[in-house]
Amino acid sequence: MNVYFDNAATTPLDPEVLDAMLPFMRDHFGNPSSIHGHGRQVRAAVENARKTIAHLINAAPAEIVFTSCGTEADNYAAFGSVRTLGLKHAVTSTLEHHAVLHTMQALEKAGDITLSYLRHDAQGRLDLEHLDELLAAHPRTFVSLMHANNEIGNLNDIVAIGEICARHNAVFHTDTVQTMGHYRHDVQQLKANFLVGSAHKFHGPKGVGFLYRRSGLLVDALIHGGGQERNQRAGTENVYGIIGLAKALEIAYRDMAEHQRYIQGLKDRFITLLRSEIEGVEFNGTSAEADQSLYTVLSVSLPPSELNEMLLFNLDINKVSVSGGSACTSGANAGSHVLNALGADPNRGTIRFSMSKYNTTEEVDYAVAQLAKMYRKEPQKV
Ligand code: PLP
Repeated sequence: MNVYFDNAATTPLDPEVLDAMLPFMRDHFGNPSSIHGHGRQVRAAVENARKTIAHLINAAPAEIVFTSCGTEADNYAAFGSVRTLGLKHAVTSTLEHHAVLHTMQALEKAGDITLSYLRHDAQGRLDLEHLDELLAAHPRTFVSLMHANNEIGNLNDIVAIGEICARHNAVFHTDTVQTMGHYRHDVQQLKANFLVGSAHKFHGPKGVGFLYRRSGLLVDALIHGGGQERNQRAGTENVYGIIGLAKALEIAYRDMAEHQRYIQGLKDRFITLLRSEIEGVEFNGTSAEADQSLYTVLSVSLPPSELNEMLLFNLDINKVSVSGGSACTSGANAGSHVLNALGADPNRGTIRFSMSKYNTTEEVDYAVAQLAKMYRKEPQKV
């Protein structure tokens, strides 16, 4: 068996998505900015993709800006808001993905903002009273707080955060990279000014994402050049990426309830088997709480052992691909800023299992069996 449990890093392309993209790789090659027939045909497809995405999240097509990835969308929202609106203060959390954390720190370093970090408890639950206090003390703040954490799977209450931000007139950006395509987002219900999607996290292609930007909140472009994306993002569009992004999101919404049930079942099986096979196993953050965590992510904390150093390597040679923390920090267990912020015991080992619709119960059993071989509970003495 050769098992892939690293779907929070990236997901396999859905064959239906590939089928939708292929005509735009083979035949429809026009530049969407060209005014002739070849261009107009491709322009129509790009605008249809925009409409599809807008419709799914209950936005207007003009509120969707295509980008090269989630990271670019996060950068665009942060730099655009702070610099165009002249915001002088920002709030984020040390648990954010580096796409947000390093971006906010770059703005702080450049002297644009002072940055406040929201308090959280040892499970990574955000202190929303602290947010209220910070926003009361600093009018006109940029707030960036993610929906779900990519390493530990914690879900933040972005509805409540949005309400607090709206009450204080703050600009609210939420990094929804890990939940787009896994939960229904409705921008009419949610008081967020910016949301983010990245196609490769929901069985679409790599190298394409989008920013939802609430209408009326015009912010300066991050990338300058031509007038593409209504002057909001210069550069010839990644046409087949955009077609694949829209198709992937359409499929994700179509099959969401069924997949959520199925993947939560895999996660529950992981938790039950790990608890019965491995003495002292724990779960990081709120990862094991079904109502407080992303159903695709389980962050496992293994007891202190000399085995922990070679954990990912040993799983890899037994053909189980997983992550130690975030794959974006270049693999292994080293220096997860999220686990450090939670004050996790450095002697414990961490594995993130992240699942998709393509995983099976047999794969869960196989992965747990590989771990149990290493960490098996001592047999009870009679
Ligand atoms: N934000 C979160 C929460 C993520 O998990 C990731 C990727 O792992 C990103 C942002 C960056 O997305 P992309 O790979 O599309 O740049």
